[in-house]
Parts: sequence; C-alpha cells; structure tokens
Amino acid sequence: MRLAGKTAFVTAAGQGIGRAIAEAFAAEGAAVVATDLNAGLLEGLAAAESFALDATDKAALQGAIRAAAPDILANCAGFVHHGTIADASDEDFDFAVSLNMRSQFHAMQAALPAMVARGSGSIINISSAVGSIIAAPNRFIYGMSKAAVIGMTKSVALDHVTTGVRCNCICPGTVDSPSLHDRLRATGDYEAAHKAFVARQPMGRIGTPQEIAALAVYLASDESAFTTGQAHVIDGGWTVG
Ligand code: NAD
Repeated sequence: MRLAGKTAFVTAAGQGIGRAIAEAFAAEGAAVVATDLNAGLLEGLAAAESFALDATDKAALQGAIRAAAPDILANCAGFVHHGTIADASDEDFDFAVSLNMRSQFHAMQAALPAMVARGSGSIINISSAVGSIIAAPNRFIYGMSKAAVIGMTKSVALDHVTTGVRCNCICPGTVDSPSLHDRLRATGDYEAAHKAFVARQPMGRIGTPQEIAALAVYLASDESAFTTGQAHVIDGGWTVG
C-alpha cells in the first residue's frame, strides 16, 4: 500500500481522470476525500468521505481543504472550451480562468499551510499536453488555461522546495473520458472526430484514465520524493514529434 496513512483530497472525482485518480489513491490505502460538482457521480466510489463541491466556490473549496488538511491534493477540475481566438468570448475566457486556473490557485493556497507545518505533502495539478507543450486545433482558451497550470506548479514547487512539499503537474494527451465523448459528439460527426483524434496518436490509441492515475499515484507517493515542479507528459507519444 503505497499511500497508507495519507489523506488525499481530489476535486472533480466523479468521472474521468479525477475518478480514476481517486480510485487508485484509495486502492493504495489513502483516505480519499472525493469531491465533485455533481454529487451523484461520486456514488460507488470507495472514498473515506465524498460530497458535492464546486471548485469555483472559493469559500467552500478552501473550507473543505482546510478541514481535511490533506497530505495529497489532486486538482482535477477542468473544462475544455472548443474554438479559435475568433470564437472566444470574454465570458468563455473568464470561465476557463475561474475553473481551470483559479480553482487550483485557491486549492493549493488552502492546502499548503498544513503541508508545510507537517514538513511533507504532494500537490498534483492536472494540466494538459495542450498549452505550452503543444498546440491543438480549437484550443485557444483551453491551452491558455492549461499553460498557466504549469506556471503555477513551477512557482509553488520552487517556493516550497525546502519545506518537504512537492508540486507537480500531469500533462495528459487525449484520454478516454465522458467529456471526450461529449466533445466528439459535439463535432456533429462522432466517428470522423474519433478517427481524427486516434490518427494523431503515434500509438494508434488514446489513453485511459487509469494510465493517468498510475502516474498520479507515483507523484503522490514517497517514491517520487526527488521530483518537483515538473510537467509530466503522458500522451502515447503525441508530442514526441
Ligand atoms: P470529464 O471532463 O469527463 O469530467 C469532469 C468532471 O469534473 C465531472 O465529474 C464534472 O462533474 C466535474 N466538474 C465540472 N465542473 C466542476 C466544478 N466547477 N467543480 C468541481 N467539479 C466539476 O473528465 P476528464 O476529461 O478526465 O478531465 C479531467 C481533467 O483532466 C480536466 O482538468 C481536463 O482538462 C484534464 N484533461 C483531460 C484530457 C482528456 O483527454 N480527457 C486531456 C488532458 C487533460
């Protein structure tokens, strides 16, 4: 049990990557506090505690994290805006800032004091291969927000490098999740869109949430004690070239 004795707080644990991470943390012995905007999605999760939480609600998010004082924080909440710069409204931009960026800022700000006092902690922010590592079509707002996650991760890592608290981010390529299927359907031609997503994958397939969760377990555990401030790309070779 690689996470025995540790408490892990997970946002957006209801489905996709967040759920796989919560499940993997629990399977490795962590007491998981699983949260999601939609409480119904948390049913059946082997969590120590689970409840509805909107990651954009600063007071609720910070209150829940301070109460849990987790050893591990996994910031998974995020939304994909589809479109170029021409399609981007100020409201779309602000929403991505609020959900993809500010929620991680607030969550880390609430988790850090207890971690620093304890002299240990691992923060895992979900970024994306799309952003500062590679661009993808119609991901102007999304890429902006996920690039910022890498910047926040590096800053927090550097400022806490002597405290025993580590902060890394995971940059997944295309991963099979409920919202991916929504995005494929939204194109109007699910089959063609799915084919195009797979075609850009050198391995000939998209990833699974469980493959991302395996990396999260490593980053959460003491096995990764020598890595901090890194953007860990896991993308089936998409960005290799
Ligand atoms: P998903 O998009 O299918 O599910 C998202 C979950 O977030 C849902 O359970 C939803 O209820 C919850 N959620 C939405 N708004 C919320 C809020 N305000 N507060 C709390 N929870 C909220 O899952 P996914 O596709 O695995 O995405 C999870 C994360 O991984 C996101 O940050 C996403 O940007 C990132 N990511 C996904 C992929 C991919 O291909 N799926 C690739 C790279 C990065």
